[in-house]
Amino acid sequence: MRPKRFIPFLLALFVLLLLSGCASKSEAAGKPKLLQAVVTHVSDGDTVHVRLNGRDERVRLIGVNTPEISHPDLGIREQPYGKQAAAYTRKRLLKRKVWLEFDVQQRDKYGRLLAYVWLSPPAAFTEKEVRARIYNAELLLNGYAQVMTVPPNVKYADIFVKFQREAREKGKGLWGAPAVAKPAGKALYVGNRRTKIFHRAGCRWAQKISPANRVEFGSREEAIKAGYRPCRVCRS
Ligand SMILES: [Zn+2]
Repeated sequence: MRPKRFIPFLLALFVLLLLSGCASKSEAAGKPKLLQAVVTHVSDGDTVHVRLNGRDERVRLIGVNTPEISHPDLGIREQPYGKQAAAYTRKRLLKRKVWLEFDVQQRDKYGRLLAYVWLSPPAAFTEKEVRARIYNAELLLNGYAQVMTVPPNVKYADIFVKFQREAREKGKGLWGAPAVAKPAGKALYVGNRRTKIFHRAGCRWAQKISPANRVEFGSREEAIKAGYRPCRVCRS
């Protein structure tokens, strides 16, 4: 072979290699490897421990965030729906066999595995299967979690946002009435749990009470009986 012919030959070979590389890569992306594990402990709604290859691993579910349960030692206060989310995950996952799917980043800075938790192995990696079998999706669909997308782990991010919208529209779980602040229509008097001072609902100081400290009363007498006193403006 003369040198002039040899170069195009090399180029063709290079292109062929590239193409075959791409092909095998896309094939791998279509069939992610799942690792079978058993859930041994539930820390909260989105964090569990599993037995994986004979080792204890902490697993943080990708793409979702459940409300916090209280950790007084860490200064974390209970958030609405935190306990329910943890209880639900305990009920659904504890002692259960699951299949873990990883995304681009396999562990976070705390050493936790980051995974999609399949409740049974999927026939295909489609939205329908994600909806039916990934526990991360189940949390969103039932309103136990909100979407939390952390790149580069975004494989199902769009589907998860869609599921969250569905839950919100149906008022599921944390999207339902109890967790969302009630409009202050009915209450005639509003007190501050911390200062024990109450106001007429329309008083401008009443608007400044943080939702966590806000208490509602139907009458002035009710507030006074509960040990509250009126603010200077609302006294008259
Ligand atoms: Zn007032």
